[in-house]
Amino acid sequence: MSTHKHYTGLIERYRDRLPVSASTRIISLNEGNTPMIQLQNIPRLIGKDVDIYVKFEGLNPTGSFKDRGMTMAVTKAVEDGSQAIICASTGNTSAAAAAYAARAGIKAFVLIPDGKIAQGKLAQTLMYGAEIIQINGNFDRGMALVKEVAEQAPVTIVNSINPFRIDGQKTAAFEIVDDLGSAPDYHCLPVGNAGNITAYWKGYTEYATSRVCSTRPVMCGYQAAGAAPFVAGHMIDEPETIATAIRIGHPQSWDFAWAAQKESGGWFDKFADEQILAAQKMLSQYEGIFCEPASATSLAGALQDIGSGKIPEGSKIVCTLTGNGLKDPDTAIAQCSAAHPVTIEASLDAVKRAILDCL
Ligand SMILES: *Cc1c(COP(=O)(O)O)cnc(C)c1O
Repeated sequence: MSTHKHYTGLIERYRDRLPVSASTRIISLNEGNTPMIQLQNIPRLIGKDVDIYVKFEGLNPTGSFKDRGMTMAVTKAVEDGSQAIICASTGNTSAAAAAYAARAGIKAFVLIPDGKIAQGKLAQTLMYGAEIIQINGNFDRGMALVKEVAEQAPVTIVNSINPFRIDGQKTAAFEIVDDLGSAPDYHCLPVGNAGNITAYWKGYTEYATSRVCSTRPVMCGYQAAGAAPFVAGHMIDEPETIATAIRIGHPQSWDFAWAAQKESGGWFDKFADEQILAAQKMLSQYEGIFCEPASATSLAGALQDIGSGKIPEGSKIVCTLTGNGLKDPDTAIAQCSAAHPVTIEASLDAVKRAILDCL
């Protein structure tokens, strides 16, 4: 008999650290186990001696880290007999909720801000067959409505206020420690609703408590300048940024995120949309890694703080790339409009000339 073990997702892999029992029906799409890719060209380009790894969460089944939380949240919703789930979303939560609901055979309702979700995310959510409720209000308004409606209708909330979401997402920290053999010195990530920074800190803390690792990283939470309540120190009402996944002014995990920052000795900072897009392009063009705009906020922040020395040379740094670049093709194409392909005559001569002109 073969001893080969087929990978079946993060709940199976970390089941002794998750709230499931032997009889739980696990709803999984084999999420997790995402690559840690060491950056090779960018450290050389900036002339700094740093080890930067990106945890490419865009390679999860629906293209973002939300799958980690959703496998747990939907597994528990089904275990509790729920027939329907609901969430407010800037796009990725709705795609993940829709996919896991389809897998489980239950209904998903998603509230999304009209016109403010990236095309790829909308396409996925439609294909997976969720009931889409577009509202003319932003994510924060959608979140408030979801909390109210869940008190009056038989639906389970699967936003990150659902503690099972956080439990699923904490496994990313486990994977990083298992992969590196220790915790990194710094962990950089984009912060929107702040569920993910909460989850990473929980994961690192659980591993440190069990002595799987002896240290925990400094947590660096980076926001878009137009949607930076943690930098402002208060909630904001009209968040605006091209990085739609973090276009959030009233983060639900406010207190948990502050605890992660304080206990780890970390910080929050904010970056202009242009800086975020520049980091996104840099990752694509110098490393061959295409993430969505919000995800690149982690690298924008790391590069600034490495440059200033706040993150010293010799450090081991992990940046979470939260979502896949294919999620938001419109922003990518618009950003590269200057390099738009020109059309030439379909002849050998013309093609040869085009090549030689570029070399
Ligand atoms: C959800 C999301 C974020 C923000 O994560 P929070 O847990 O809300 O802070 C960042 N990037 C992407 C791509 C996301 O989908």
